[in-house]
Amino acid sequence: MASPTYYNCNVCGFYTQGNFSQIGYILNKNGERVFVPHAWNGKVDGRMHQTVCLDCLHQFKLDFDADELKCTSCFSTNIVRTHETEKKVCPKCKEGIILKKVDRYITI
Ligand SMILES: [Zn+2]
Ligand SMILES: [Zn+2]
Repeated sequence: MASPTYYNCNVCGFYTQGNFSQIGYILNKNGERVFVPHAWNGKVDGRMHQTVCLDCLHQFKLDFDADELKCTSCFSTNIVRTHETEKKVCPKCKEGIILKKVDRYITI
């Protein structure tokens, strides 16, 4: 079981979700991305990462190899994978520091 990970601002409480990094997917007949189970051993067509826009704070998933490196909401290129916000200044309040938290009481 994976432990959900959060990256949480110690001042304003802004957080980004997940240790959703390297989420494998396969393409179905319609060309849609279908996520595969974590323990999947087969081939994947790509991998997506939980991503946050540092301008509008939108959170979304992106394949950094296949997709345009832009926010899906405001089209800013000022985006990072959520785990890269760790120990950096909070993009929301610009005062706090983003810290990693693992919630061991929730199972997926
Ligand atoms: Zn903050
Ligand atoms: Zn944005």
